[in-house]
Amino acid sequence: MDATDTKNSKNMQETFKDFLSSKGLRVTNQRLAIFDAAFDHPDHFTAEDLLERAREIDDSVSRATVYRALPILTESGLIREVDVGRDYKFYMANRNVTTFQAQVICLDCDKIFEIDAPFMEWYGKTVADKLSLKVESQRLQVTAHCSELQSSGLCKRGGKRNS
Ligand SMILES: [Zn+2]
Repeated sequence: MDATDTKNSKNMQETFKDFLSSKGLRVTNQRLAIFDAAFDHPDHFTAEDLLERAREIDDSVSRATVYRALPILTESGLIREVDVGRDYKFYMANRNVTTFQAQVICLDCDKIFEIDAPFMEWYGKTVADKLSLKVESQRLQVTAHCSELQSSGLCKRGGKRNS
């Protein structure tokens, strides 16, 4: 990781505050708790994961506040949405991402691995050029067996997110 690209969450919180102000939205303790919980999360998370973490910071955070905050967070560009074709979305802090990311997801535990996929940019551009269309979004999704599934035939977290 390039140290000059590394942004700490305090600076990012300032950026988020500026974004809220620019949208005419109030900077509330709940929104900041949700932001901190989201930006400090090292991995992909769901809205429910975020609710749990945000409540550890500020127990007045409600489910409705989290669901209302998520579109604001993604619009700010500090958090990105990761759609792996489930009926719920995953989210992830947008740290140092400069290349198109492809997701590889374990069939059993839903663990998501991200991998740089610069060829996807080329692919989108090719589609756009050939069909004269403007590409809005694209995704590459690979399902896999994670190492745990390969070695034991079962993931510890297996099915957790499906229940
Ligand atoms: Zn797995």
